[in-house]
Amino acid sequence: MKTDVLIIGDGLAGLAIARLFEQRGVAYELIEARPRFGGRILSQSVTINGETAAFDLGPAWFWPGQPRIAELLDSLGLQHFLQHASGDITAEDENGRVVRGAGFASMEGSLRLDGGLGCLIDGLVAALPDNRLALGQVVRQISFEDGTVVTAAHTADGEIRSIESRCAVVALLPRVVADTIQLPGEITAAAKDAMRAIPTWMAGHAKILAIYGRPHWRDDGLSGDAMSRRGPMVEIHDASPAAGGPYALFGFVGYSPDARAQLGGGLAEHGRDQLGRLFGDAVAEPDELIIRDWAFDELTATPLDHASSNHHPAYGLPAALSGLCDGRVILGSTETAPEFGGYLEGALEAAEIAMKKVETCLE
Ligand SMILES: Cc1cc2nc3c(=O)[nH]c(=O)nc-3n(C[C@H](O)[C@H](O)[C@H](O)COP(=O)(O)OP(=O)(O)OC[C@H]3O[C@@H](n4cnc5c(N)ncnc54)[C@H](O)[C@@H]3O)c2cc1C
Repeated sequence: MKTDVLIIGDGLAGLAIARLFEQRGVAYELIEARPRFGGRILSQSVTINGETAAFDLGPAWFWPGQPRIAELLDSLGLQHFLQHASGDITAEDENGRVVRGAGFASMEGSLRLDGGLGCLIDGLVAALPDNRLALGQVVRQISFEDGTVVTAAHTADGEIRSIESRCAVVALLPRVVADTIQLPGEITAAAKDAMRAIPTWMAGHAKILAIYGRPHWRDDGLSGDAMSRRGPMVEIHDASPAAGGPYALFGFVGYSPDARAQLGGGLAEHGRDQLGRLFGDAVAEPDELIIRDWAFDELTATPLDHASSNHHPAYGLPAALSGLCDGRVILGSTETAPEFGGYLEGALEAAEIAMKKVETCLE
């Protein structure tokens, strides 16, 4: 199999690059390890009492001042809404003592996508021709032979596909690339160390999502926003759809990945207890409770991501990682974007940068 450009990874960055290639008539193929599109973007549909909504288990928010995502949503005809933030907030200390009061909901002003961020992925995929996209293809090796990039991908039925391309956009997390893919000899140990030094944004995190037929907390004058020093969730927010139900709260888990693994199913019980302490007995009994732990998703996180990080890293492609294999192997996930790295907006920024590098490569 031969193509001009191989895109590896169909998260937002990979799909955005494919969209740019379609617009500019570049011949490409996009391959992805998972049996689904979207990477860290993952929305799950839940039905309660006859009402259905999709809930975001990965990213949920974007923000004013992010021009690329605004343009993309507009061009796909998708609607956004403001994070629900009206009502009192609650906070608990390390002993589980809860204080309720008027306060600033920490995510007030953040934007969410009507129908969940999965709609963005669905919209992008629908605009790409099926014959350019292949799921269930795990890249295990990339080599560089006589100026050609040769990629070996393992398919779900045990075959190994070899794809030759003039260049490859590797829209995967740099740490995942360094630790799971056999790379060409031209990519030095120092370059692999530079990949490992780039933290994958939010990869060590887990979300607890609790879903209800009624928004009991809103009925009680609460916004759903809570902070906790006891846990397991350190911050909680309303995750309900733009209008109607089912209604939901979600929280980021503060326990370390090791502690989460040791607790196993006990984490759900701790989560329910905490919801009861913060919002009252009815909220301790969700109709459905979903836990998504990204730290143990090997296409997103490596053990390096299990160490907690309390700040947003400075992103952008380090010099050691530019011009790999005569500029024919191009790293392109959000973590390579200099301005909005880590965020959804960064995935779109990375796609634009990759597009320019591909144009140079194909000259
Ligand atoms: C819990 C959580 C909450 C977040 N919240 C926000 C938020 O609110 N707002 C925000 O802006 N950002 C948020 N983020 C970050 C956001 O998810 C990312 O910015 C964005 O999804 C990155 O897209 P990407 O395409 O760069 O990477 P990814 O979506 O990670 O895509 C990489 C793709 O490569 C694939 N892949 C990996 N290895 C291989 C292989 N060997 N062969 C083939 N394919 C492979 C993966 O399966 C994946 O599909 C959050 C992330 C998480 C995990």
